[in-house]
Amino acid sequence: MPPPIDIYIGDIVQMRKAHPCGGDTWRVVRLGAEIGIRCLTCDHKVLLPRAEFERRVKRFVERGSQQ
Ligand SMILES: [Zn+2]
Repeated sequence: MPPPIDIYIGDIVQMRKAHPCGGDTWRVVRLGAEIGIRCLTCDHKVLLPRAEFERRVKRFVERGSQQ
């Protein structure tokens, strides 16, 4: 298993699969057992278990603050 990745509030991530609205970039808005992300295109918010978030992320577009 790969080591867990660091995730920060404000990170902008590109997902492997596009959202139904056509957007594929999301902002991390909540950390915890579940990661909250908000679609930058339609503003829809979803919660994903961390493991699923890590599976779905294609790349980090921008890193948030490391607080
Ligand atoms: Zn969307």
